[in-house]
Amino acid sequence: MKISIIGSGYVGLVTGVCLASLGHKIICVDKQKNIVTMINEKHSPIYEPKLNELLEKVISQGNLVATQDTNKAIQNTDITIVAVPTPQGEEGIDLYYIGEASKEIGLALREKANYHVVCIKSTVVPSTTDTFVANAISEFAKKSLNDFGLCMNPEFLREGNAVDDFMNPDRIVIGAIDDKSFSIMEDVYSVFKDATILRTNLRTAEMIKYTMNSLLALLISFSNEIGNVCEAIQNIDIKDVLYGVGLDSRFNPKVNGTTINPGLLAYLAAGCGFGGSCFPKDTNAFISFSDRKGYTPEIVKAAVKVNESQPARLVQRIEKEIGSLSNKKIAILGLAFKPETDDIRESPSIKIIEKLAEKGAYISACDPVAVENTARRLRHLDVVYSRDYKDVLRDSEACILVTKWQEYKIIQPDEFKQLMKTPVIFDGRRIYDKELFRKSGIQYFGIGLVEI
Ligand code: NAD
Repeated sequence: MKISIIGSGYVGLVTGVCLASLGHKIICVDKQKNIVTMINEKHSPIYEPKLNELLEKVISQGNLVATQDTNKAIQNTDITIVAVPTPQGEEGIDLYYIGEASKEIGLALREKANYHVVCIKSTVVPSTTDTFVANAISEFAKKSLNDFGLCMNPEFLREGNAVDDFMNPDRIVIGAIDDKSFSIMEDVYSVFKDATILRTNLRTAEMIKYTMNSLLALLISFSNEIGNVCEAIQNIDIKDVLYGVGLDSRFNPKVNGTTINPGLLAYLAAGCGFGGSCFPKDTNAFISFSDRKGYTPEIVKAAVKVNESQPARLVQRIEKEIGSLSNKKIAILGLAFKPETDDIRESPSIKIIEKLAEKGAYISACDPVAVENTARRLRHLDVVYSRDYKDVLRDSEACILVTKWQEYKIIQPDEFKQLMKTPVIFDGRRIYDKELFRKSGIQYFGIGLVEI
């Protein structure tokens, strides 16, 4: 099928490349010239495992091209998927990019006689597609709603695992205004025989995405809250507590005598808070939108509140354990909001670095792929960066593990001891073996663990 994708960022590009690898003919559109140039030169503008190899392949096969020309892309395709940003505005979700894209689609459809399906993949608050988007396209296309197709197909991929997630969907939610739009979108995904295709109306599809992200954010904040209570009580390790909870067969049934350890358990873990381009903005958008509709989602609000205080709590805790941070050399392991991505949007690392800087610490920070993005974002701060953790650990007086990259997980206690001036480690994700580290002479502190 011929598909144009408006917005070639984390979601748009992954969607485009994966659909192209399944044999569809894809035109990726982006406003930013450098993104279009890089894609056409077979270089992914973002870091995402497996994406670059697949991009090279689909471009060489002639299944994907990128352009800045939205009109041309729409004239040459039958379906347009919208994957533009939906950032947090001052009063909830900012629909500026959705509005612009809808207008451009409308103008292109005015010139087009053939039936065309528009599918919103960006995360938008319920009723955006059937009102805001539908009205804008109709107005600029000078067509009524049934003259074009309209769907809402939320995206559930996780950055860092995006290609695998896209290619192995558990379910595909398609909200559609009518049977014709639905069956065209269903055909796009027909190759995924094992995935449940769930047909809903547009609003329900939008709501499923917010419910999913709110639930996952809740699990993280709940784990962090219990961890904070463990710290207050002392001599209780949150890791043991959550492990004990996670063995319950209602979460974690045994199949042939072995617990299945579902992916959901990864969210039942204490750490320095959730970040990224989705959970923080989507929970906030959900709260303000529901508020405006007359219902305040108190539980989601509490999850956001717990999350916002988590990085500052960590810095306070460090100060309590090692005294003033002024002029102390602190090493930060990890800048991306999670491993296997260069995305630093709302990353806890950024907040921790800002707090440490306020307290007068010397900060050195590393990440395998997110150094450039962070240096750009924090250009007002005096931080020393490296891709190599050894550089940042050298002569440091304390180290904070923030992102659980595999290469940090395997650092041995002796290496910390050799490189650091004083081997003090704050494990913000509880990835290290506390007994082993302590036996090796490291002063080990962990989130959700205070021992007396
Ligand atoms: P992104 O910022 O990485 O990419 C968006 C791209 O759209 C940018 O490159 C921008 O230049 C381009 N753009 C904006 N307006 C345009 C226009 N009118 N025409 C052409 N290009 C345009 O954003 P993202 O992370 O891919 O997120 C996109 C949407 O998907 C958001 O609504 C987000 O909430 C949702 N989402 C994101 C993820 C994720 O993990 N990143 C997962 C699920 C859903």
